[in-house]
Amino acid sequence: MAQDAPDSRKIRLLMSLRRAGISDAATLRAIERTPRDLFVSGGFEDQSWDDRALPIECGQTISQPYIVALMTESLKLDDRCKVLEIGTGSGYQAAILARIARRVYTIERYRSLMAEAERRFRELKITNIVPRVADGGKGWTEQAPFDRIIVTAAAPFRPDALLDQLKPGGIMVAPVGAGEVQRLIRYQKDEEGEVSEEELTQVRFVPLREGVARSEDRR
Ligand code: SAH
Repeated sequence: MAQDAPDSRKIRLLMSLRRAGISDAATLRAIERTPRDLFVSGGFEDQSWDDRALPIECGQTISQPYIVALMTESLKLDDRCKVLEIGTGSGYQAAILARIARRVYTIERYRSLMAEAERRFRELKITNIVPRVADGGKGWTEQAPFDRIIVTAAAPFRPDALLDQLKPGGIMVAPVGAGEVQRLIRYQKDEEGEVSEEELTQVRFVPLREGVARSEDRR
């Protein structure tokens, strides 16, 4: 049987995201405009419009579209936002954020993943992403504070070093927990600097690891 055309698969994905409760028009539009197949490799291209996480290089994963959409929507972005992302991976989530926000600062610990992600940003002519190869757990002091922060690797506990780099009135979304299943938490910092938190759902992210990866480090 012939494969569906990419467009009909994309429409099916967008419909399933809506059914799952994603309603923010900017988020859905960003997903529609961003070819996920470009961010997938290694023979998984034919599954790029399925609503599932897929393996990428260096033993990492590109997140499930529903989780990308949920995290993006939960950030309540607008075109004035300066966003920090920890865990560039394939670059897909960064590209989605960059469609909505003013500028996205993104940190990855694997140089090779970042090189691929940057190639994709160039191909899509996305110019408002600033990449950095470093340990993202420490944030990006020189660029702080940020309006929004998104962590796409699981932190064992509340990432206070990152919360310190969030502006008053800012929002951070992060998977938190040391196990295989983590709680996806939205942190909101009020104008007095008081932080409240709410659990959005449960997720499975690869762990946030310390330090920059060495080339032989494949995990
Ligand atoms: N947002 C990605 C998915 C990320 S998977 C996407 O859309 O494809 C998690 C990523 O976090 C992996 O690439 C992993 O290498 C990276 N990572 C883990 N610990 C990190 C750290 N301390 N600093 C920066 N990146 C980290």
